[in-house]
Amino acid sequence: MKICETIEEVRGIVGEWKKEGKSVGFVPTMGYLHEGHQSLMEAARRENDRVVVSIFVNPMQFGPTEDLDSYPRDLERDCGVCRTAGVDLVFHPQPEEMYPDGFCSYADMNGLTGELCGRTRPTHFRGVQTVVLKLFHIVTPDRAYFGQKDAQQLAVIRRMVRDLNLDIEICGCPIVREPDGLAKSSRNTYLSPEERQAALILSKSLAEAARLIDGGERDAGAIRKKMREKIAEEPLARLDYADIVRFSDITPVDRLEGEVLVALAVYIGKTRLIDNMIVTVE
Ligand code: AMP
Repeated sequence: MKICETIEEVRGIVGEWKKEGKSVGFVPTMGYLHEGHQSLMEAARRENDRVVVSIFVNPMQFGPTEDLDSYPRDLERDCGVCRTAGVDLVFHPQPEEMYPDGFCSYADMNGLTGELCGRTRPTHFRGVQTVVLKLFHIVTPDRAYFGQKDAQQLAVIRRMVRDLNLDIEICGCPIVREPDGLAKSSRNTYLSPEERQAALILSKSLAEAARLIDGGERDAGAIRKKMREKIAEEPLARLDYADIVRFSDITPVDRLEGEVLVALAVYIGKTRLIDNMIVTVE
């Protein structure tokens, strides 16, 4: 497995693979890898001749008061995880490699980013799109793998690829959870034992919404209300949002119809966690 810090090295290696006619699968990450990331690598391994993983804590997608400096990092362990997963190349650039002096160009969109995480993190998706577009140009993958854990991000990347005619297949992968239901996240390491227990309120709240939908409820307002009430039952939890939107364009819905995204962001103590489910209603 190659570990590269420069764009030039990555271009050289991928260029050789391309000459040999090899297909390339790509998994962008911020590192501190867990089974959620591993599931993306495994999908990439199955479907491509070569697999590239990027490990880059992207400063541009963090707001000024967010956890950029404290975000967990462990490159050595991450490289071990990648090696075990059969990854061929890890790209681990320094911020200066991605954003040299004078950097001032961005990828952005008018739709899809105004709701959910875009409300409380207004510059987040611009940062995500910019880094992902840059990584796509550097790695030139045939397929790129994203988790449904970040469902709005998945919808945004799909739309960017469609709008800007990028010749890359975007593959969405299911959420990997702990046995008790908590969605795996690098940020779970911030949680104290009490907070770790309290964090179950996210998946419980989604389970409550699923029960209502299974029972025939189609009024988004009624489901939202129940989810918010459920979150309020947990003293350590503070709601950021609990919303239901159309998955394709992340616009709010009044009634459930077609493919909808039921999504939550909740602070447990100081840690902001997200979770969601995608439901198709006939
Ligand atoms: P991150 O390192 O948090 O930026 O995540 C990198 C990729 O892994 C993104 O596409 C995430 O959606 C995905 N991912 C993170 N957590 C999970 C999870 N629990 N299940 C599936 N995919 C995940």
